[in-house]
Amino acid sequence: MGKRDKITTVVPCYNEEEVIGLFYEEICRVAELMKEQVDFEFLFVNDGSSDGTLEKMKELRAKDRRVCYLSFSRNFGKEAAMYAGLEHSTGDFVAVIDADLQHPPALLIEMYKGVREEGYDSAAAQRVSRTGEPKLRAFVSRKFYRVLAKLSKIEVVDGEVDYRLMSRTMVNAVLRMSERNRFTKGIFSWVGFRTKWIPYENVERAAGTTKWSFGKLLKYSLEGIIGYSTAPLAFVSLIGVLFCIAAFIAILFIVIKTLVWGDPVGGWPSLACMILGVSGVQLFCMGILGQYLGKTYLEVKNRPIYLASIVETNEEEGDKEEK
Ligand code: UDP
Ligand code: MG
Repeated sequence: MGKRDKITTVVPCYNEEEVIGLFYEEICRVAELMKEQVDFEFLFVNDGSSDGTLEKMKELRAKDRRVCYLSFSRNFGKEAAMYAGLEHSTGDFVAVIDADLQHPPALLIEMYKGVREEGYDSAAAQRVSRTGEPKLRAFVSRKFYRVLAKLSKIEVVDGEVDYRLMSRTMVNAVLRMSERNRFTKGIFSWVGFRTKWIPYENVERAAGTTKWSFGKLLKYSLEGIIGYSTAPLAFVSLIGVLFCIAAFIAILFIVIKTLVWGDPVGGWPSLACMILGVSGVQLFCMGILGQYLGKTYLEVKNRPIYLASIVETNEEEGDKEEK
């Protein structure tokens, strides 16, 4: 008999005490179905939860050694949690999956088939409906991904969610992208590799509430655009050029007008408007520059992506290669 495969499931959890137990039961059911071929490691990442999530993880670990967990010193965000999970994963294949059961664990069976038998490097879930999601949010997010695809080389498939199974090779590639401003969908697209898309119907949260506020979503989308595109910078230069041309034409117009008709004093309101308008545009453009500068600033500081206060894994017993 050949070597058995091991799948690590990386589960970022932020205040998920209500669903984590349900999730565990569900994933165990799937592990049971796949037990002929695969061993599992369930790696939970507690992203600085303020509820009993960590205690739930400890309980699970006490009764099942396949359960491992990391606990952050504070909330670092889902992107950091996924990175930490990938870093501590020991499986030949690694799946990232949400804790709230919106990502049906049963899809893992088909995903595994895709990477194991059909030669794909990763298999990702593609949500074909957005039922249960606020209409406005669905609309804005669809538009955002379209804009992102236009501005950068990053292709985010419509309905892409952070649920995918990856080969070790791809995981290592993702880990090499050690940037601090993380936008995982962009990273997955950037590293390339062959991905099999598996459609599924949207499922509503099993319990608990969404952790995404409007502000968080806005920040996330800016992260995506600024992290993967320099188009806004080119746009700023273009605005500058357009304004110079406009100014040049206006000057010509005024000089000619003065020479031909003389120059009665007047026109100050229009002047005031122009100054206001132009300085507004300048500030806007400086703001865009500032965004890039800010990102660069945070990046060069080279701070850790996350800080873990507890690491409970089976790594010492495992056969993970040293990086
Ligand atoms: N999450 C996290 N850190 C955060 C926010 C969310 O680890 O700061 C986790 C959360 O526990 C869940 C997953 O990311 O497992 C997706 O979050 P959520 O369900 O709130 O997002 P939605 O499904 O509404 O997009
Ligand atoms: Mg969710």
